[in-house]
Amino acid sequence: MEKHDAKPPVILWFRSDLRLHDHAGVAAALASGQPVLPVYIWDENTATRPLGAASKWWLHRSLAALGSDLRGRGSRLIIERGNAQIILAGLAQEFKARTIICSHTFDPETEVHDRHLSEALADIGAELHRHNTTLLTLPNSLTTQAGQPFRVFTPFYKALQASGICDVRLNSAPVTGEWSTPDRWPQGLALEALGLEPKPTPSGKDWAAGFDGFKPGEAGARGRLRSFLKNHLKTYAEDRDRPDLDLTSHLSPHLRFGEISPQRILFETAKAVEADQELTVGADKFRAELAWREFSYGLLAQQPRLDRVNFKRDFDSFEWRDDDAGFGAWCRGETGYPMVDAGMRELWQTGYMHNRVRMVAASFLVKHLLIDWRRGEQWFWDCLLDADPANNPASWQWVAGCGADAAPYFRIFNPITQAEKFDPKGQYRARYIPGYAQDDMRLAHMKKSRDPAEKVDKSHHIPDYTQPIVDHALARERALATYKRRSDDMYRHGDEE
Ligand code: FAD
Repeated sequence: MEKHDAKPPVILWFRSDLRLHDHAGVAAALASGQPVLPVYIWDENTATRPLGAASKWWLHRSLAALGSDLRGRGSRLIIERGNAQIILAGLAQEFKARTIICSHTFDPETEVHDRHLSEALADIGAELHRHNTTLLTLPNSLTTQAGQPFRVFTPFYKALQASGICDVRLNSAPVTGEWSTPDRWPQGLALEALGLEPKPTPSGKDWAAGFDGFKPGEAGARGRLRSFLKNHLKTYAEDRDRPDLDLTSHLSPHLRFGEISPQRILFETAKAVEADQELTVGADKFRAELAWREFSYGLLAQQPRLDRVNFKRDFDSFEWRDDDAGFGAWCRGETGYPMVDAGMRELWQTGYMHNRVRMVAASFLVKHLLIDWRRGEQWFWDCLLDADPANNPASWQWVAGCGADAAPYFRIFNPITQAEKFDPKGQYRARYIPGYAQDDMRLAHMKKSRDPAEKVDKSHHIPDYTQPIVDHALARERALATYKRRSDDMYRHGDEE
């Protein structure tokens, strides 16, 4: 104790990097030989975007897990609330700390706050040291041959593979060093004081009751990875699009809060392949999906308000429809299209939605209903446990057609055939739509039927289930016409390629 009091501490400021292993900042703090003062600051004013309700639920548990992991090492997480700059400068002055260590968030607005913080700390003789603990490589550090940031995924991924960045070698040695926290350091707040838990619904129901399929925290993330590699990597490439099988990794919220590093994921994946060559195809596909995350962060660095501003600015004059009733039906999962509705109900009940269904549901909003993608993005932002500042807006813009490397405008997901293809026995839909019994005979009949009216979906025969709020064929024509007008306009103005 005396020893620590004599030495000034290093302040280890946690943000979206809530883990202790494979963390360059943690390693640097421990290697300093000084006592480490771990702190988390709930700073609503300098956050680019207030966290959604589901993310807050996750954050609460993730902080609890980190606190417990630190206690296990004889330390504790000091929780504060308020302006991070003021709190950090105060701590640095009070305890004579010269070094504050944190991770990049790669959120462009936070980068600006970090610059100000760095200057404020320099004024009192302290330094901010930032580490990349989140991505495989710094956003846009890879460029096209012309020196431009990538805007198309495939060449980006080729460059990433060629760079050798994906061939990760990790040291699995446990974290060692001096963690103990002197008693004189601040007590901080109780986690509950941050008010991150969702309020009960007016009916008294616990909205988050269905989130229990996840285990936030570093141990939960490691467990999830182990189980995925063991049970599902082999068939990942062929079955990852099947929401009924639901065999993807579910690592997205863990990655979002930095509970596991992408390097660790790649390292463990490579080890699994080394032990069983039959995992090679699945592993290749899995690596490519992880690269989409890197690509999205590159886009966020190119367009800091990716959640608000069309990546392709010629979309600014797009004729979105005002349709509050349609938007409400979509949010509630009452569009009358079972694949869309099952997805929206999965989202509400579990805080998660399968990737294939995210694409179908998002496409339905922006193409069938012609509702501005930003409204859907915000709803996902509030409801997804993995709501990510880069992945969410980049994916929405991809679906809407205004993003980099976006789906072509004439690609309109058909919610009926998508359901037949990716949920062939209706098991996914049945999970979320009461009465949607797995009626194989009827499905088989519908598939064979030549009558287009029969080809709709068996939803029409479910008591109390809503009729489609829009006719698929008409909505498709309307979307094609609207998108084509924009496309003609674009070529008239000659502002693309
Ligand atoms: P896996 O298939 O196991 O993939 C492994 C990891 O790769 C994921 O955890 C994720 O980090 C990354 N990844 C996979 N697909 C993508 C992708 N298309 N784009 C970027 N990264 C990807 N992902 C989020 O993490 N947060 C979001 O807020 C988010 N919003 C989305 C919104 C829409 C409209 C769409 C179409 C997709 C969105 N995605 C988002 C991407 C994708 O749906 C999820 O990453 C994936 O479903 C998470 O499940 P998983 O961890 O089991 O994925």
